[in-house]
Amino acid sequence: MKRILIANRGEIALRIIRALREYGYFSVLAYSEADKTSLPVKQADASICIGPASAKGSYLNIPAIISAVEVTGCDAVHPGYGFLAESPQFARVCKDAGITFIGPSPEAMEKVGDKSVARSVAMSAGVPVVPGSTGFVNSKEDLFRLAKEIGFPLILKAAAGGGGKGMRIVQSFKELEDSFETASNEAKTAFGNSNLYLEKYVSEPRHIEIQFARDKFGNCISLFERECSIQRKHQKLLEESPSCIISPKLRKDLSEAALAIANQVGYVGVGTAEFLVTPEEMFYFIEINARIQVEHPVTEMVTGIDLVELQLLIAEDRPIPFSQDDIKIMGHAIECRINAEDSRNNFRPSPGKVTQFIPPGGPGIRCDTHLYSGFDIVPYYDSLIAKVIAYAPTREKAINRMERALYEMVIDGISTTIDFHREVLKNAFFRKGDYYTNFVQRRMGIK
Ligand code: ADP
Repeated sequence: MKRILIANRGEIALRIIRALREYGYFSVLAYSEADKTSLPVKQADASICIGPASAKGSYLNIPAIISAVEVTGCDAVHPGYGFLAESPQFARVCKDAGITFIGPSPEAMEKVGDKSVARSVAMSAGVPVVPGSTGFVNSKEDLFRLAKEIGFPLILKAAAGGGGKGMRIVQSFKELEDSFETASNEAKTAFGNSNLYLEKYVSEPRHIEIQFARDKFGNCISLFERECSIQRKHQKLLEESPSCIISPKLRKDLSEAALAIANQVGYVGVGTAEFLVTPEEMFYFIEINARIQVEHPVTEMVTGIDLVELQLLIAEDRPIPFSQDDIKIMGHAIECRINAEDSRNNFRPSPGKVTQFIPPGGPGIRCDTHLYSGFDIVPYYDSLIAKVIAYAPTREKAINRMERALYEMVIDGISTTIDFHREVLKNAFFRKGDYYTNFVQRRMGIK
């Protein structure tokens, strides 16, 4: 690989451009008309417009992206996260055109991308899953029979869902009856796939995920966990590594479970296995994310391993250059996702011109962002505008450092979630590490 096209935007596009420059690759950014004044366009070695503002016409437009690869003489594509990052169809088109797709093979992606299929894969790898359906549910009759078997509360999920969307908690047969068709129609509209599956709703779990990597020679490593239980509406807002509740045994068990699934599907690349963990340390697999994740920096800070570099290396068919024993967790890292949303007004999106931007800095602070003063945040895409990562020798120091960083950070002209994070950081339950996925609702009174 020499020239790599980035089929993405925002902070992750910039993150990838930075890695490409450090490791000696030429970067080409594919961008939409709405993003022509964005920082990634300025920072990439070259750039090419691939279509209009609507993601459908640009970042999701496979023919436009493939043409851009060819016109700019690229030999590989980095898909980032979101958009086409987990599309087996896109990975296959790249492969057939002789373009390296920086991610797992279309075959592996097919097995882990559909959440109901991934459940079956996990079960055959001997990994515990939340009690629920095997594969997707075909009919209302099956749904009712399963519901009776498992018992309420249940969670009805779209097999192709993601980003915390396409899930509903159901408490009774009546609610199940009312939800089935609407959920299935919604899934069809939002994800292009109407398949639904059912899981027991686990009350008060923690969301803990394992970052793993596997190369084409079958070498497989765990880069340990990220704790992602601070969520609103099933979407992550703050993540940390290590998790403050995990025992060495649980870390080992979760890592082994993640690697068993990666081996089972012949996964080549970096990926994440997500689990729900109960207070009794029971764990259940929920899904695989076959891409670089938003929260990858916390793992990079505590392990010292550059995950984008690892992706590039694996895509070059090279072996992972270290062994499991080389990977150690040092210190503690926390990430706050800063969104262009009004956290005092139901997290309503708040696009617009950033009149002044002052990023935080100083010891132990990393800020991954595409913002600059005068930048116009467009309303067409995800509202993530910056990630602030605080790294320190202990959790307490990392929290204090994050508070200091958010104090320094200025984003004028729009509303952001900075105030929300300040509230989380000073919350006594958060400080103690006593929290579950319902923290935001239960401890902060936010819906
Ligand atoms: P997505 O792919 O949309 O991110 P996930 O399946 O990863 O969806 O779930 C996102 C979040 O939803 C989890 O972190 C957890 O908070 C909640 N969740 C998912 N499945 C369950 C379940 N069976 N019981 C309780 N909470 C769940």
